[in-house]
Amino acid sequence: MAKKGRVFSGARPTGRQHLGNYLGAIQNYVELQTDYDCVYCIVDVHALTTVETTQELRQNTFEMALDWLAAGIRPEDSILFVQSHVPEVMELHTYLSMVTPLGKLTDLPTFKEKVRQQPDNVNYGLLGYPVLMTADIVLYKTDIVPVGIDQAPHIEFARETVRSFNYRFNTKALIEPQVKHTEVKKVLGIDGKEKMSKSLNNHIELALTPEETVKRVREMVTDPARQRKSDPGNPDVCNVFTMHKIFSPQEEVDMINVECRKAGIGCVDCKLRFAANLNKHLEPFRAKRAAFEAKPSEVQNILDHGGKRARAIAQATMAEVREAMKLP
Ligand code: SF4
Repeated sequence: MAKKGRVFSGARPTGRQHLGNYLGAIQNYVELQTDYDCVYCIVDVHALTTVETTQELRQNTFEMALDWLAAGIRPEDSILFVQSHVPEVMELHTYLSMVTPLGKLTDLPTFKEKVRQQPDNVNYGLLGYPVLMTADIVLYKTDIVPVGIDQAPHIEFARETVRSFNYRFNTKALIEPQVKHTEVKKVLGIDGKEKMSKSLNNHIELALTPEETVKRVREMVTDPARQRKSDPGNPDVCNVFTMHKIFSPQEEVDMINVECRKAGIGCVDCKLRFAANLNKHLEPFRAKRAAFEAKPSEVQNILDHGGKRARAIAQATMAEVREAMKLP
């Protein structure tokens, strides 16, 4: 069956992935493969704008690739590769920077936020980040970029940059990407308050052992008003219940919804049930991950092959771009 177009998405190499990554992005990546030609990129160059050391960059890239593959990214269909393996993206970034007003970059809320976060390392890469991101997208003749509502302005920036480039050089070499709004689930961490994230250490990694998963789940904060087992609880404000709704069978969800409100089930029991269901859900993932982990050269081959496929598209785009710019 003919696919509906090409999808591109990238993520920084953050190492082993957690439930927030899985529910917020990876699951969606896997589903999109049915209808679209997908290009998934581990954006290691973007990571350089914020990392203090590159010591763990390779390992983080490898671990992330392992998780993506184990979760169902199919390298025989989709292109899975590492950003720096296609140096053309740096070239396109430079050309696109020539049609990008400086003020537009300095005005971006994301840049201002980064300046606040790392005032001692306001490097050019931080400022040029949206331009490099645009190059990532358009280099592969992307039709569609899946994003949550909050990221839509970034794609609008990319669309405007493409329009400026095409107008300036009187060409149609670059395609304006369309946004595909996806429902990005906001997954709270085990603290039950903040978004799940590695930096807050409130995450549950997919690759934990079943025992480690139980331990982590037991640390989850529940309904804060429920102090004792004999107190009735409110599942509507409890992150454990939110997770049950994703990973547990409907009958169990219904039972907890009723029993929690009349103190018929304790939080420890409730958490252990969730941990068991989560572990069951992750069984195939863990088996596949272990198989890939045992053959690191296979993972490397997949990334290398993905890089070659991505580069072939990139080189064709750059030939058109250079021609449009009349570069000698
Ligand atoms: Fe949350 Fe379950 Fe405890 Fe109710 S019983 S407060 S749903 S952990």
